[in-house]
Amino acid sequence: VKKPNLLYGKVIRDQILSEVAAEIEELKKQHVAPFLMTIEVGNDPATAVYKESQRKLAAQIGINYETIELSKNTSEERLLKMIDRINRDPVINGLMVHMPLPEHIDARKVQWSINSLKDVEGVTPYNMGKLFLGAEALYPCTAESIMALIKATGVDLKGKEVTVVGCSSIVGKPVATMLLKEEATVSVCHYQTSKRGMLEHHVRNAEILVVAAGVPNLIPGEWIREGAIVIDAGINRVGKDIVGDVDFEGALKRASYITPVPGGVGSVTVAYLMKNTVTALKRQLAAQHG
Ligand code: NDP
Repeated sequence: VKKPNLLYGKVIRDQILSEVAAEIEELKKQHVAPFLMTIEVGNDPATAVYKESQRKLAAQIGINYETIELSKNTSEERLLKMIDRINRDPVINGLMVHMPLPEHIDARKVQWSINSLKDVEGVTPYNMGKLFLGAEALYPCTAESIMALIKATGVDLKGKEVTVVGCSSIVGKPVATMLLKEEATVSVCHYQTSKRGMLEHHVRNAEILVVAAGVPNLIPGEWIREGAIVIDAGINRVGKDIVGDVDFEGALKRASYITPVPGGVGSVTVAYLMKNTVTALKRQLAAQHG
């Protein structure tokens, strides 16, 4: 049996970062530097990890990075006012609000209030709509990361059987949309697919499998089609370990390519956040110069 190729994110991440760093050098000549602001309400342990890796990468390539840390009791009104200020602040090019937000805050209202030109996570209806229509925009970073990993295998997506497990607005739906644009044949599975006992059928059919459900070991190794490309975006804490949604050891026996967790999708996602911040800045400059 041929050993599968492990799709490490590091190679792609470093490639994106060096391209972004070069763009930042160019922008410096015009005396502008990108600035990414993030807002956290309450403290979530997962957010602490994301913030740390964002801060590190931003520093590495020359993006100014700050996080506003608000208490979990912050009112929705105060948060919206803060976003409004950032939306109008010419120094800040990118804004992301860390999820989850406390229950008393309407997350959708908050995300939709972000200036679409600064929406580096691609969560506003404007950017989502553009993605849906196949136009250029700021796209959700995890979906971009998944696409980059698939493309790194050199596979031709045209007409391929692709199954996406999970259809959240931030991962599953955007990646399904991107795959469709590449003319793949896309099946999207969710909780009801499992409930009807049809998940196995769709997974077995997949030449390319993308999983973003947040359920450890949701996909047993024996379901993986021989030679499939497996992209596991799941990040689950099990005891002291971080695992994906796919039974990694089992899948290794059948996949041609597979992403490790950690070290796969997650490590590329942050690089796209940086890339989107620079893209946002360039678009803002272009808009100013009309
Ligand atoms: P959500 O919880 O928003 O969405 C989960 C999706 O999975 C839903 O569509 C849900 O279906 C589906 N699902 C849940 N249980 C099952 C099941 N038993 N069978 C089939 N489908 C199921 O999660 P996110 O999309 O935000 O995140 C998914 C995973 O990806 C998480 O582990 C998260 O940590 C990780 N993640 C990783 C990132 C990275 O950079 N690597 C970034 C963002 C997230 P339904 O819609 O029917 O409820």
